[in-house]
Amino acid sequence: MTTDFDTVVVGGGPAGATAAHDLARRGHRVLMIDREGRIKPCGGAIPTRAIRDYAIPMELLTARIGAARIISPSGEKVSMEIGDRGYVGMVDRDVFDPWLRDRAEKAGAARLTGTFESLAYRGDGTLTLTVAEKGGETRTITTRTVVGADGANSAVRRAVFGPKKRPPYVFAYHEIVKAPPGRTERFDPDSCDVVYDGRVSPDFYGWVFPHGAHASIGVGSAVKGHSLKEATRKLREDAGLADAETIRVEGAPLPLKPMRRWDDGRAVLLVGDAAGVVAPSSGEGIYYAMLTGELGADSVETLMLTGKASALRGARRRFMKEHGRVFFVLGLLQRIWYTSDKRREQFVKMCRDPDVQRLTWESYLNKKLVKRERMAHFRVFLKDMQQLLGLTAR
Ligand SMILES: Cc1cc2nc3c(=O)[nH]c(=O)nc-3n(C[C@H](O)[C@H](O)[C@H](O)COP(=O)(O)OP(=O)(O)OC[C@H]3O[C@@H](n4cnc5c(N)ncnc54)[C@H](O)[C@@H]3O)c2cc1C
Repeated sequence: MTTDFDTVVVGGGPAGATAAHDLARRGHRVLMIDREGRIKPCGGAIPTRAIRDYAIPMELLTARIGAARIISPSGEKVSMEIGDRGYVGMVDRDVFDPWLRDRAEKAGAARLTGTFESLAYRGDGTLTLTVAEKGGETRTITTRTVVGADGANSAVRRAVFGPKKRPPYVFAYHEIVKAPPGRTERFDPDSCDVVYDGRVSPDFYGWVFPHGAHASIGVGSAVKGHSLKEATRKLREDAGLADAETIRVEGAPLPLKPMRRWDDGRAVLLVGDAAGVVAPSSGEGIYYAMLTGELGADSVETLMLTGKASALRGARRRFMKEHGRVFFVLGLLQRIWYTSDKRREQFVKMCRDPDVQRLTWESYLNKKLVKRERMAHFRVFLKDMQQLLGLTAR
């Protein structure tokens, strides 16, 4: 049977727009569906690696951040300067996502504004998708393959794996406020605050991220009954932003573990948040969404060229080979250090260490653990253990 498209990409966020761009650029017939109209809640911090690998133009960055200030429950502040290693780029998702979708369209992807509802296999292994178009019409579309890039609450994931299969997540909430015109006593437009404090989050962290004219102030937690709004109120107060004009308030689940399977063994592949690919500890998801969009495009193309459905597994395999170890360590870090204020205090103290600072920035900005730094890794590990066992001087 013939199909309308080779691939339908559901979702036009960082993951979907990257997959659609890559497949369209290689001459495949691609449709990208996005329901549009809702700005993705997000702190918008991206590492140098994302800017470089995905050719993100400088105009899209609302700020280039040169340091992070790590804050403990007792109020101790440790400044971690990036120095000449690079910077953290800040993007506003109301501008960034439409730009990514436009880029995919320019590369040849067709676009449809609508909500994916269901999918079904046809006799020959191709698929029919049902989409509620923005105007209210229901449309059916046929395709050889599907990329599910529709975020943390993925409807494609529910359609292929059922409602119970979803990655563990925290709920993240933030408020976008108007930032002061320059540095104040408590707010620095060139530095991100990362707050480890059980009152702010009993199991994750809070943040104040400057975005040029605006700032994102928010918190994540999976603990039921913990008031994220109250925690954000405290963060705003501590940053001297209690009276700043509020532009938007919004929240969304933040998955924290890649799913064991991203594909259905036939012709559907999940990428980005839909597959749970957000780093534990940090909640970083934009770079990983774009990377899995890219790897997903490769896998889908291989399936279409070879007819082998096993090619879909390549996306997860390649991702875990490159980043599985770091995700494992970050998961461990979260389980160890985010559990009590005593531990958080120790953790923040550890951040004073130059080895910790260098390796943290290297691995965040470039997503590579430098081999020649093996001794530094070992020193950090030892210091980590000493802190944990309470063997260091206070
Ligand atoms: C409060 C908060 C703060 C965060 N801060 C950061 C940060 O600072 N840095 C960072 O790297 N990550 C951050 N993240 C995580 C990051 O936002 C996500 O990991 C990233 O957006 C995932 O990209 P994605 O393309 O997989 O999914 P999404 O960005 O969620 O995109 C999914 C797309 O699918 C569309 N869609 C959904 N359902 C349907 C449907 N049924 N039919 C059609 N279209 C549909 C949506 O409109 C959307 O455009 C944060 C997350 C939250 C919640």
